Amino acid sequence: MQRKGVTSVDNAPIISHQHAGLTVEGYSRAAVQTYWRIPELKVGFDLGAQPWDFMSTPNWLITHTHLDHVAALPVYVARRRMMRMEPPTLYVPAEALEDVRRFLLIMQRLDRGRMICRLNGIKSGDEIELSRELVITAFSTTHTIPSLGYVIWDRRYKLKEEYHGLPGDKIRDLRLAGTVVTREVRTPLVAYTGDTSPAGLDNYPPVYEAKILITEVSFIRPNHRREKIHKFGHMHLDDVVERADRFRNELIIFSHFSTRYHPQEIRRFIDGKLPANLVERVKLWL
Ligand SMILES: [Zn+2]
Ligand SMILES: [Zn+2]
Repeated sequence: MQRKGVTSVDNAPIISHQHAGLTVEGYSRAAVQTYWRIPELKVGFDLGAQPWDFMSTPNWLITHTHLDHVAALPVYVARRRMMRMEPPTLYVPAEALEDVRRFLLIMQRLDRGRMICRLNGIKSGDEIELSRELVITAFSTTHTIPSLGYVIWDRRYKLKEEYHGLPGDKIRDLRLAGTVVTREVRTPLVAYTGDTSPAGLDNYPPVYEAKILITEVSFIRPNHRREKIHKFGHMHLDDVVERADRFRNELIIFSHFSTRYHPQEIRRFIDGKLPANLVERVKLWL
């Protein structure tokens, strides 16, 4: 929505890609800044920076509190208030909740502007009901500080098989008599891992089933030592190669590449190492 007297401001890079009626927008380079959103679902992930246009997205899920994933959290909260928008809803790993609250209070004192938001702590296994049709689940990832990934599910209620073929008024009577005639069917739409070593993916299988997977491949060169990369809570391209058969996703976004790599080098390694049936579903976030 364009507000009176406010034009679009190009303050942070955005890459955009559409798939299955959803738009994935954002940017992510290791140690620089990470932010994503899916405007159709009214959800964003991480706030390492906040592109001006992302202000209209009201719900944000933070994976972990490394600076390149949270630096713009107070910026975003303050801008929403400045633009007289509804207070946003934010989720952060429960372990970080009190410190994030203090972080906002300190910025409130320094900036002399109130930080109004709904700030929630979240743990692995928790669910967020975004609407009747959209549910978000949080799962543990493996990084150097408390961290979570998120899956956004499409939720439908379908008539149970035993009632198929029954006339509508009979189903209505059953329902009125208190019988549960539907069952819940969930489809994972989007999985976002944030920063993680491969265990973060392996421990939560829906990650491999989601229509769209957004994940990290921070390191690609063959000479990097993988044990060290895993210890620091990141992934190497060889981890992806080893798991090539497991990805059922329609679209796989690889991001969060180390700044030491040139985009051409990343493309060359990905094309050279991944099997063709995976490469055709991969979008490199460059
Ligand atoms: Zn990061
Ligand atoms: Zn990190």
